[in-house]
Amino acid sequence: MSSTAENQYEKEKLLFTPGPLTTSATVKQVMQRDLGSRDYKFSDIVVDIRRRLLEIGGVTDGEYAAIIMQGSGTFSLESVISSTIPRDGKLLVIINGAYGRRIAQIAEVHNIEVVTITCPEDQLPDLDELNTTLITNKDINSVAVVHCETTTGLINPIKKIGELVKQYNVDYFVDAMSSFGAVPVNLAEFGIDYLVTSANKCIEGVPGFGIILARKDSLDQTDGYAQTYSLDLLAQLRRLEYDGQFRFTPPTHTLIAFHQALLELDAEGGVEGRAARYRSNYETLIAGMRSMGFQEYLRPEDQGYIITSFPYPDHPNFDFEEFYRRLNDRNFVIYPGKVSQADCFRIGSIGRIFPADMTSLLSAIKETLKEMDVDLTKTKIQPETPHKI
Ligand SMILES: *Cc1c(COP(=O)(O)O)cnc(C)c1O
Repeated sequence: MSSTAENQYEKEKLLFTPGPLTTSATVKQVMQRDLGSRDYKFSDIVVDIRRRLLEIGGVTDGEYAAIIMQGSGTFSLESVISSTIPRDGKLLVIINGAYGRRIAQIAEVHNIEVVTITCPEDQLPDLDELNTTLITNKDINSVAVVHCETTTGLINPIKKIGELVKQYNVDYFVDAMSSFGAVPVNLAEFGIDYLVTSANKCIEGVPGFGIILARKDSLDQTDGYAQTYSLDLLAQLRRLEYDGQFRFTPPTHTLIAFHQALLELDAEGGVEGRAARYRSNYETLIAGMRSMGFQEYLRPEDQGYIITSFPYPDHPNFDFEEFYRRLNDRNFVIYPGKVSQADCFRIGSIGRIFPADMTSLLSAIKETLKEMDVDLTKTKIQPETPHKI
């Protein structure tokens, strides 16, 4: 069963977006309950959530800690940046998309000095340049990179980057917002000090909080660094460890839903099981899109199975706004692009969607193109006699 519970107001939409995503009926149902934030049942749920998150990260309590932070994913990024780098510190950000740029922008707001390694949005970062930058900037405290650059769907090589970063005495910070729970990661093995993800991406919860997995040794050394009161990461952890409480009102319903989502992740076979479904979604998607004449923005070897960017097809009748609206009217929600050098749209393979839903989306796209009188298979230029090399 792929479709979720009926919404009494409107027919349920399927979201093929980078988040918030389609969630299961059961994840939505468990929120029909009010629990006080000091209720022991709620506290037990929080303990179990934090334990399961470490398990997904392949690490143990003691070495690492899972910290829940109210707000959307960006609040957790800001929490790490503003509470783990000293005020006169320096952050190196690897940028090949909008989310990498966002990390640098957050740091700048906090007056943290930023150096960047920037490469085009359809390319992997140059690790030699990273190495050189680390050699020539001895005062770097932390290196940040985005795992799945949701701008395009590109997967950055976080293990290789970690191996390099760990040769220097710096922290390693990974924005794994759109990959954690669906792309295997082992924080200790990859040398990650801080990893950030959110409730409403691949773990398939509803929005309301972010998650920071932190290496305790590293976080313990940040006493006094926090530049904000509410996003103070060390204070948040200390309170959770002291009496299991949040410093400020936790999103109780969202946390209950997230716990259910974690049980469902487990039932699906954990990260491996979820990865298999998302990969099938992705493979179904690109096969269908290619057969209609669309092409992916990235080279397949740099592309993950999380989200895919497609350049606007070069056809006089294609208009993205109209394409989007017509699909939306059919209850299929795709996503506008974010690539800075090319007009693209995006289709996500994540959330409570299945290959059968992808097939339905593909049929809807086919019908929509027909209505718009866009036939990409005809306009494709096929040289009759290929050039001899
Ligand atoms: C979704 C996402 C974020 C955070 O977005 P919010 O809207 O703050 O939840 C950050 N980085 C990446 C790579 C993302 O995919």
